[in-house]
Order: sequence, then C-alpha cells, then structure tokens
Amino acid sequence: MPEGFVNISGLNFEQTDDQRVLLEQVDRACRELRPSEDRAYLEHRFNPEVRKVFGAAHLLGLPISRQYGDGQGTDMMTYAMALERIGKEGTGVRTFFSGHTSLGMLTIQKWGDDAQKERYLSSGTKGKEVFAFGLTEPGAGSEPTSLVTNFVEQDGKFVIEGVKTWISNGSIADSAIIFAYPKGKKEGMCAFIVDRDSPGFSAKTIENKMGLYSSDTGTIYLENCAVPRENLLGPRGKGLSVGYSALMSGRLSVAAGCVGVMRDCLDEAASYASVRVQHGKLIGRHQLVQRHIGIVSVNLEAARLLTFHAAWLYQKHLEDPEDRSLRTEADAAIARAKFHASRSSFDAANRAVQVFGANGYSLENRPARHLVDSRVCQIYEGTNEILEQKIAVSVLGKDFESYS
Ligand SMILES: Cc1cc2nc3c(=O)[nH]c(=O)nc-3n(C[C@H](O)[C@H](O)[C@H](O)COP(=O)(O)OP(=O)(O)OC[C@H]3O[C@@H](n4cnc5c(N)ncnc54)[C@H](O)[C@@H]3O)c2cc1C
Repeated sequence: MPEGFVNISGLNFEQTDDQRVLLEQVDRACRELRPSEDRAYLEHRFNPEVRKVFGAAHLLGLPISRQYGDGQGTDMMTYAMALERIGKEGTGVRTFFSGHTSLGMLTIQKWGDDAQKERYLSSGTKGKEVFAFGLTEPGAGSEPTSLVTNFVEQDGKFVIEGVKTWISNGSIADSAIIFAYPKGKKEGMCAFIVDRDSPGFSAKTIENKMGLYSSDTGTIYLENCAVPRENLLGPRGKGLSVGYSALMSGRLSVAAGCVGVMRDCLDEAASYASVRVQHGKLIGRHQLVQRHIGIVSVNLEAARLLTFHAAWLYQKHLEDPEDRSLRTEADAAIARAKFHASRSSFDAANRAVQVFGANGYSLENRPARHLVDSRVCQIYEGTNEILEQKIAVSVLGKDFESYS
C-alpha cells in the first residue's frame, strides 16, 4: 500500500446470515433478561439472571472456540455487534461480559495451555463458572507495574499474598486471573488462574457505587493463597504481556457496549420527544430538542465505525499475533474507539436525560441509569487520560511516552 493510504479494503459492513441468526438470539436473550434486570437495578443488587439467561441461550462464550463447551467461535466484529446489543441493556450487563468473557475467557484462550482451556473454557462458556480479572490494587491502578501482590513457591505450589480491588464480578467469580510479582522483586510479573475455593481466597462486594447497581464489583483478598503449579497462566515472567493483551480485548468490549448505550439513549430520547407535548407541540418539533437528537446520532455512528474498525484490526491481530505493527495499530484503534465511545455515551445519556426533563432524573427511566452507569467507562480498563496519551504516542512515536 503506498504511503498516505489506509488499507481497509477487507472491512465489510454486510451482515452474513450466520451473524443475523446469532444477533437475533442475542436480542431475544436481552429481551428476556430485561424484567429481572429492571428489578435488580432498582433494588441495587447483582442480577444472577444474566448468567442464567445467556447461559441457557448458549451465548456466554461467543468469541470462544467451538471446541470448548458452548463456544460459538465468532470473530471480533460479530462479538462487537453482540456487545453493542448487550450494552443497550445497560453497562452493568455488558460489564459482566467484559469481566467473564473478554478479560476472563478470551485471556485464557490466548494464553492458556490445553489443560487450562479444556478445564476453564468448557465450564465458563456454559456459565457453570464465572471469571474475573484482577489487576488493580489499592495502590496500583493506571500504573499496574507498581502492584505489590507477590508470590513464593512452596511445596510445588504458588502461594500468593495481596489485595485486588475494584474487580468486576469480583465477589461472584469462581475463578480470577491474578497478577503478582515474585516476592521481593519488581520484575518477572506472573499471571495465575486462582479458584475461589483455594485456601486463603476471600472476596467482598464494594458497596455504595455511584451507578452500575446490578453489576458486581468486588475486592479480592489473597492471604497465603495456595495455587497449584499448573494454574500459572502464560509463560513465567510474562504476566504484564498477559495483562496488556487482556486489556485490548476488554477495552474493545467497553467501546462496543458504549455504542449500545448511545443507541438506547437515542431510541429513548426520540420516542419521548415524539409523544411529549409542550408549548402546543411535540417537543421533538422544538429545534433545541432536535439538536440533542442530531448530536447523539452523529456521535453514535462515529463511535460505531471506530469500534468496528478496531474490532476488525483486532481480529487481524489475533490471526497474526507475530506482526508487531499490526498489534500496535490494533491497540491504538481500540484506544481511540474506547476513548470516543466512552465520552460520547456519557454525553448521549446526559442529552437523553435533558430531553426527558424531570422524568429523566428518575432511575425508573433508562436515560438516568445510562448517565450514572456509563461514567465508569471513562475510568476502567485504562482511564481516558491514559488512553489519550497512548493515542498521542501512536502519532508522535515511542520517544514521546510520558510514563512507563
Ligand atoms: C466499576 C469498576 C470496575 C472495575 N473493574 C476492574 C476489573 O475488572 N479489573 C481490574 O483490574 N480493575 C478494574 N477496575 C479498576 C480500574 O481499571 C481502575 O480504576 C483504573 O485503571 C484507574 O486506576 P485508579 O482508579 O487507581 O486511578 P489512578 O490510576 O489513581 O488515577 C487517578 C487519576 O489520575 C490520572 N492519571 C494517572 N496516571 C496518569 C498519567 N500517567 N497521566 C495522566 N493522568 C494520569 C487518571 O487518569 C485518573 O484521572 C474497575 C473500576 C471500576 C470503577
């Protein structure tokens, strides 16, 4: 390709018959989930029906190989489309998938050995087990290399000591991917699959979040937690690579979910503006209300295109993981998609609340839920400040990295 041109000739927006069938199944599961999700959200409790409904529909392992349990073997574009629909139901529902499927099972699929994949993906895709991803600690967020969780090897096991906090699915997960340094070292980070029933493992739900009421967020405590040797995930000392690769897929899931949030906000605002009358006409006929709808519509399409482009590049990267420049390109595209989609989904929710007026201020209505829930998308899986710098460095070059 000559310089100055971008090769997107393989990017295809036509839906295949297989995609249509699958997305109809996702849509049906989302509709079935809604009544229980409404109840759980207003009662501020985790909705266990997510696991049941999507498990029964065989949709918990969409991007996982068909070789394992209910894996559907979808590519990343199809998975992103499904996550858009799931995100429309709410950021809490989508966050369950981000923790379980994108950060959990996809990471095991990429880095696990045959026995780990057989053991964890077969049950995870069926919803028999739920996964979480534990990187963040009380003292290590944007700077994961500063984490202090550590391990020693004892009697053929890894014994882990540390605390992971703000972990999605953290207190309901059956297994979590945990990152730790060898005791006394600041290099050689390792990733482990730690089962909930391991001695020394405990977890607590984080209460009083500003939103995301039906999603579980927890703190995981590892106190002399003994993990079998075979639960080391990926090569010894490559934990950081495992973590960063997981974050690519996690960020893509956030971007796709945010597109769904915007779709819901647009639908809700348009419906309300088509029935509410003030000053003798439908509010949808007032130009300043139309402006809200117009801006959300433009941002939605832009976010969707960024997300699908990122998903397409990510798929290419997964098919050719040795191509470093493809990885860098996919990483930057995912960062751009998440950065834009997270900001514009929050803006879309804010505008939908405005269109609803006082009714927008009630959690009984969907715009208010999206407003408080989508805020986290600018924080988790790489804050927007971190992503903004990553995007800038992708333009300026590595010499301009402002942190390591
Ligand atoms: C609901 C929820 C669910 C989550 N789920 C998970 C999960 O499943 N697994 C997991 O591991 N973590 C999870 N997290 C944690 C999340 O990934 C972290 O909160 C995030 O990485 C930011 O870390 P921090 O909160 O420690 O903020 P800090 O890193 O302390 O950042 C504070 C502020 O400083 C800014 N900042 C920091 N460094 C820089 C820099 N170099 N340049 C410019 N600005 C900077 C940040 O952008 C931010 O604005 C979750 C968080 C929430 C709220």
